[in-house]
Amino acid sequence: MKCRICQHEIRPFMSFGRMPIANGFLTPEEFDSEYFFELKPAFCDQCYAFQIEEQPDPEMMFHDHYAFFSRTSKFMQRHFKAYADWVYSNHLKGDDLFVVEIGSNDGIMLENFANRGVRHLGVEPSANVAEEARKHGVETIVCFFGSDTAKGIVEEYGQSDALLAANVMCHIPDLNGIAEGADILLKDDGVLIFEDPYLGAMIKKTSYDQIYDEHVFIFSALSVASIFGRHGFELIDLLPQETHGGSMRYVLARKGVRGASSIVCEIVDAEKAQGLHLPETYEQFRKDCEASKARLIRLLEEEKAAGRRVVGYGATSKSTTILNYCGIGANLIEFISDTTPIKQNKCTPGMHVPVKPYEAFTEDYPDTALLLAWNHQKEIMAKEEAFSSQGGKWISPIPEI
Ligand SMILES: [Zn+2]
Repeated sequence: MKCRICQHEIRPFMSFGRMPIANGFLTPEEFDSEYFFELKPAFCDQCYAFQIEEQPDPEMMFHDHYAFFSRTSKFMQRHFKAYADWVYSNHLKGDDLFVVEIGSNDGIMLENFANRGVRHLGVEPSANVAEEARKHGVETIVCFFGSDTAKGIVEEYGQSDALLAANVMCHIPDLNGIAEGADILLKDDGVLIFEDPYLGAMIKKTSYDQIYDEHVFIFSALSVASIFGRHGFELIDLLPQETHGGSMRYVLARKGVRGASSIVCEIVDAEKAQGLHLPETYEQFRKDCEASKARLIRLLEEEKAAGRRVVGYGATSKSTTILNYCGIGANLIEFISDTTPIKQNKCTPGMHVPVKPYEAFTEDYPDTALLLAWNHQKEIMAKEEAFSSQGGKWISPIPEI
């Protein structure tokens, strides 16, 4: 395959095997027509981009029925308010500000700018999600972002002070197109700011569940500097995040226009010390994934042999990679409980484990819960005190089983 960024010839360093669409929860009638692809990550040692080889057609994943509304989560509401405040205080200056967000979802971030009276525009490919944003006073256009969209925005609204994104960039195969669009859209001293799951954290924690169809890339500061450096941008600030089991916020500006914070050098040095620029690191990651898989299967089989009931906790998109890679189906876990109504009474993609409402967990506690939403471990442990104190056992697949 060719690297999506620099066209260098690269080869996947491992395969997670046959994989369904991570968010493709389905009913038994849909089993026969379920879509599968092979999930294979690759690393480019020229531009440092960590990417998956094959990605299903984006139209399959982001259509009008796309189920995810960020607004439903209180945690995410707080996160995006803090994100917007941080951008506003640290990287915006002057009056008559104009802020654009790519993949603005239901307006959860932009409403914080709208509340400050800042001119804003959301660019969101899902029509029903965009409609929800408009209901909350967030101006939104329905399309994908690229050079043409950028030109259209500049004609109608003028150039922008900031182009923002959150958990969006890593979904976009044509990042060169995004960088070209950013170059058209942004004022001379404008900033491109986005955050996504962080490669350094993923390698450290062996959190391979970050790798699924929607995540074409997993970024590092090294790769972001390289990818956008090809289009005249440089990293000027970074902010490590706890969200999604470890994320990074990147701030880029045109080269030489704004000074860079010292944290940029610090994090780049730390990434080199971690070996994020070296193919050997990914060879070791492959071995770590295989060891993690073996341990998890062994543990679940021991539970089963001991006659203990195991139930999954949290039918996250990310858990699709864990369940399918490890081959965990209804043979090893009875069902998965989840609070999201749209997933309930359906089955998980690929392994077809039944998803039941949250109450199915609390009304009849299992012996053991498999914590698939491991990145919310702290909140979940606090919420499920009653389960733990009556002897309930947790198995967390990540960071350490
Ligand atoms: Zn490359």
